[in-house]
Amino acid sequence: MHDPFQADSAVYKTLLESTKAIPWKIDWASMTFAYIGPQIEPLLGWTQQSWISANDWAERIHEEDRERVVNFCIAQSQSGIDHEADYRALTADGRYVWIRDVVHVLRNAAGETEALVGFMFDISERKKTEEQLLALQKQLEEYSYKDGLTGINNRRMFDSVLEVEWASAQRSRRPLSLILLDIDFFKQFNDHYGHIQGDDCLRRVAEALEAAVVRPRDCVARFGGEEFVLVLPETDAESAKQIAERCRKLVGHLRIPHEQSKVAQLLTLSLGVGTIIPEAHDSPMAFIEAVDRLLYQAKQQGRDRLLQGHCSSGEEGACQA
Ligand code: GH3
Ligand code: MG
Ligand code: MG
Repeated sequence: MHDPFQADSAVYKTLLESTKAIPWKIDWASMTFAYIGPQIEPLLGWTQQSWISANDWAERIHEEDRERVVNFCIAQSQSGIDHEADYRALTADGRYVWIRDVVHVLRNAAGETEALVGFMFDISERKKTEEQLLALQKQLEEYSYKDGLTGINNRRMFDSVLEVEWASAQRSRRPLSLILLDIDFFKQFNDHYGHIQGDDCLRRVAEALEAAVVRPRDCVARFGGEEFVLVLPETDAESAKQIAERCRKLVGHLRIPHEQSKVAQLLTLSLGVGTIIPEAHDSPMAFIEAVDRLLYQAKQQGRDRLLQGHCSSGEEGACQA
């Protein structure tokens, strides 16, 4: 069939130079530009004439993208493989524009690479959307593990952390400690000072509890309402007791007035502290329940105190005070 464009290079040129994509050609032997479309100038600010060697291209790639992109394009071109690469191109006034370069390798009869031809596409809009979506996704992930009121880990995070640490303690046979704590007479606090003050109080307590732990694997979470929980991996009963005492001390230092408390003038806590080296037949659920019973006993015995138990198996996972 007759090719209407054959030998009509003026038609080709007009077509190439009227697209949004920017056409170019590099001679492989000399590594120089045989051609680049005039559209390059409005996009990047560099004149058509300033694109002389392949080096001019490489130098106008963002430093962080350069090595990856140049190495990739050279390797693909040497192997005669068509390819594409995304990178940030430097503009004449010092900004960056996201480019997708789509490259076709032209080979001679012997199969050797002779030239590269391609199109550069401005993909900055798409990249911006992608980046915004990624940031949004990251934020969503963070939100779903953070308590909205206090900003510390939420119940879901606690569940995940405990599952992982439980398995780890089973493998390592090292003690895992858990502290459950509950604010004393918090209902009266709310009734007397109002919910806004109540919320503020929860934030301050959360902050104090976070200051009570130092190891990176320690996890402080809001268990629900005015109850908090600390997961302390590789922590024996003695150390767990010290941390629980530190929680009491730090909350005491806040000196939050609580006129309606029946045990003190200031806000106080009750705590249950348990330590376990979990066996195969133990369950994290039973451990939490056992520590919760200790907390309940601390309340029964008069509040503003901690109760510690030993949660070795054989006692059916129960923490004996
Ligand atoms: P106890 O000493 O036995 O723990 O008594 P308590 O009053 O602290 O216990 P109770 O569980 O009866 O009351 C907990 C109160 O905590 C009830 C609720 O009003 C309050 N509370 C739970 N979540 C929030 C919250 O997000 N903000 C505020 N302001 N109050 C909360
Ligand atoms: Mg409670
Ligand atoms: Mg309470």
